[in-house]
Amino acid sequence: AITVLGSTNMDLVAYVSKAPRLGETVTGREFRTVPGGKGANQAVAAARLGASVAMVGAVGADAFGVRLRSALTAAGVDTCGLRTVEGASGTAHITVDDEGGNSIIVVPGANGLVTGLESGDEERIAASGTLLLQLEVPLSAVAAAARAARAHGVRTVLTPAPVQPLPPDLPDGVDLLVPNEHEAAALTGLTDPRQAAAALLDRFPEVVVTLGAAGALHAARGQEPYAVPAPRVRAVDTTAAGDTFAGALAVALGEGRPMREAMAWAAAAAALSVQRPGAQDAMPDRAEADAAFSA
Ligand code: ADP
Repeated sequence: AITVLGSTNMDLVAYVSKAPRLGETVTGREFRTVPGGKGANQAVAAARLGASVAMVGAVGADAFGVRLRSALTAAGVDTCGLRTVEGASGTAHITVDDEGGNSIIVVPGANGLVTGLESGDEERIAASGTLLLQLEVPLSAVAAAARAARAHGVRTVLTPAPVQPLPPDLPDGVDLLVPNEHEAAALTGLTDPRQAAAALLDRFPEVVVTLGAAGALHAARGQEPYAVPAPRVRAVDTTAAGDTFAGALAVALGEGRPMREAMAWAAAAAALSVQRPGAQDAMPDRAEADAAFSA
């Protein structure tokens, strides 16, 4: 089983030909509301792929909160650890222009109130084999969850996004760091992903750097680094590719599959997700991922 402690956001997406500048008003073409948030995305990715998943976090006492919770439930995620708190749900206000460029405002809302573990959370973490973390809820909660996982011998996988300086004690509870190449560069000041991965081993025992269409890179203390390629596909929307990869990696590792195979399976799942529009909607189910992996 997998526990995800993290964010749930409603993505509010406006499609415009050209984004407005400060003080300007433009008429958009279309508007969509789509459940997202890195925590929820990783939870849905893992559940679709067949894992038993529990989500810990918070939604607001508003209409978005109801929809965010039901999107998770529909994907088979246990939401007993997802609190409904006063105020607004997390939202991401996204403008997409005709060139596909975007600008995004994230308002944490309820996610900002996830500051630590609540009653039942430690038991949830203890009952799982893997804890998935990201950085869209306060670091105090991320650190508390990692400590609980360490105390109970639960593997912890951290996606360091949105990237920010990590408190010195956080790495203590993290077994595997999964940054993309930009996050790896921001955390180390090194733009070469191989060098960045090697530098991250000072703080983390094992690192997988995702490289978009180029696949992913593995580094661990005392081991030769290796790369796993991504399947060559026509990408139409890479939103949540990283979340699909992280969710899938956790599922495969939880099943006891060796790291290299787990990475290749995660790459197959993520490649399926980029061929379809959307975030959670684009994520593959178990049969699709297995078929793409063995193809
Ligand atoms: P993020 O979504 O966090 O920016 P990446 O862009 O590195 O992360 O993508 C995560 C993973 O998704 C990659 O390691 C790869 O397996 C897969 N992926 C992303 N883009 C593509 C693509 N264009 N073709 C195939 N696989 C992709």
